[in-house]
Amino acid sequence: MKIIAATSNQGKVREIKSIFSGEAFEILSMKEAGIERDIEENGTTFEENALIKARAIARLCDCAVLSDDSGLCVDALNGAPGIYSARYAGENATDQERVEKLLEELVNVKDRRAKFVGACALVYPDGKELVGIGEVYGTIGFEPKGENGFGYDPIFISDELKKTFSEATEEEKNSISHRKRALMDLYNKMRNEE
Ligand code: IMP
Repeated sequence: MKIIAATSNQGKVREIKSIFSGEAFEILSMKEAGIERDIEENGTTFEENALIKARAIARLCDCAVLSDDSGLCVDALNGAPGIYSARYAGENATDQERVEKLLEELVNVKDRRAKFVGACALVYPDGKELVGIGEVYGTIGFEPKGENGFGYDPIFISDELKKTFSEATEEEKNSISHRKRALMDLYNKMRNEE
């Protein structure tokens, strides 16, 4: 089955392809599928936003469409930046600016517990919809560490890996990431549908 990954974030496409490698799916990025579209994420939850994106792209093609919405939720900030993770430091800010803003918000904050949350939605050509959810727990460091990954990875110290997601290899991160867990949750639901 051909599945279009409805994201323009190449980091996410790489992770999705790597997680689904070995499965009987061909994952295509929007670029590879020749689709260009910016979608307004105006939902109030990760699940809603993932569905909004997948539905919008599914309308443009007759393939299955997989989308992901994800973000970082910090306990001491009552779950912020949450669904606003991408826009946390303004629309055109860089990953580095978002990381700097978060570190500023957490200066002198002792409780640094946080989690990445991911929701993956799949919309089939016949309109059927499935959603998977995944979480991974950790703490926010005091300074960026590591070179790998993207987004908030340099300051997210995974409880399981005991280092930042940027210090982890791609394989290490992908084995436990919120996206991996959301995709596995979705995958199990897909199999139950067969
Ligand atoms: P969206 O899912 O494309 O709306 O964006 C989610 C935001 O959360 C982006 O700013 C990402 O940088 C961040 N984010 C999502 N997943 C990860 C991850 O695995 N590592 C680091 N940051 C992430």
